[in-house]
Amino acid sequence: MRPAKRIAALKPYLFVEINKKIAEKKARGEEVISFAIGDPDIPTPPHVIDRLCDAAKDPANHRYPESEGLPELHDAIAAWYKKRFDVDLDPANEVLPLIGSKEGIGHIAFCFIDNGDIALVPDPAYPVYAIGTQLAGGSPYYLPLKAENDFLPDLKSIKAFILKNTKVLWISYPNNPTGAVAGLDFFQEVVEFAKQNDILVCHDGPYSEVAFDDYQPASFMQAEGARDVGVEFHSLSKSYNMTGWRIGMVVGNADAIKALRTLKSNLDSGIPQAIQYMAIEALNGPQDCVAEHNAVYQRRRDLIIEVLERIGLEVTPPKASLYIWAKVPRGYNSVEFTTDLLDQAGVAVTPGVGYGPSGEGYVRISLTIPDASLVKGLSRLSGWRNTRHLTMKK
Ligand SMILES: *Cc1c(COP(=O)(O)O)cnc(C)c1O
Repeated sequence: MRPAKRIAALKPYLFVEINKKIAEKKARGEEVISFAIGDPDIPTPPHVIDRLCDAAKDPANHRYPESEGLPELHDAIAAWYKKRFDVDLDPANEVLPLIGSKEGIGHIAFCFIDNGDIALVPDPAYPVYAIGTQLAGGSPYYLPLKAENDFLPDLKSIKAFILKNTKVLWISYPNNPTGAVAGLDFFQEVVEFAKQNDILVCHDGPYSEVAFDDYQPASFMQAEGARDVGVEFHSLSKSYNMTGWRIGMVVGNADAIKALRTLKSNLDSGIPQAIQYMAIEALNGPQDCVAEHNAVYQRRRDLIIEVLERIGLEVTPPKASLYIWAKVPRGYNSVEFTTDLLDQAGVAVTPGVGYGPSGEGYVRISLTIPDASLVKGLSRLSGWRNTRHLTMKK
């Protein structure tokens, strides 16, 4: 059997080494406290589960769903955008439900990228933007996100010969892994850039509802002219603790949505209908759960940052997202620090380089750790000592 070249070209998963170490520790009976996983630990809200249970009993939901999703779900998504962002969307043509937003993020490359085309991809970033591009035959061109630019890409630095072959720009705020946020002024700059260069903007915004200290993240769709040049991916996963149910959406430019709808109608048969009813319930129902979850994350954020700073990491408290992006102590690179922390304290964090070369020097710490493990993890972190900066003065 001879797998296709595109499969051989997929790099091995970046966290293989660290995961192997974690597995070895666990096999020896040692407990590892993990701050490495970005997956809400709090269950899906009960009213959303109740709707699933009712919907599961209706035989109409036992059959193939429509690939493009229930009209009621399109309506619920449009109504939520109106309520939350004051953005008007045409439910039929500017909204498309997805089997989790990751699915759409991967597939949209096949709608816009031909062999040799370029997609501008942030570094560091969620890996699917670049992988989708590559699977479709294109090449990612990486835009470094640097602390001194507030982790926004420098669009003006991109050379004309790159832009000539560029079809897509990926951005994502509130950002995974850096926890950075972007305001409407940046989104407006992106719209102008995309118009000038005839580029589709794909904004990935699953963390718009995970925010702290009364900060309200913006939607890319709020920028003037956004729907002329771009789409926004969103998800029920992080807002309503629904990662396990696999449901998200893309909204915005009708031509881009139509292209993705056509591709998907040829590949998949839609989202299980009972799960679509869960999403309708989550979007239309009471929203108290969102603030309640955010209060939990904010408390964890503050507890973790206090300990991180005490043991020598540099942190800017994130205004949104589920992540703390912390600068590792002197004497370490991100993998060395991650490895030492695992060996010496039994605590797992994610090395920043796993998200791209510009992630070097950072680790990502997730706020989705259950409170019982959090207490244990913080006590272990507090006891960790930097043994390198004394011996490795540079
Ligand atoms: C979690 C996440 C997603 C995907 O969420 P789905 O569960 O597939 O809807 C997309 N982008 C980023 C940056 C994420 O962190």
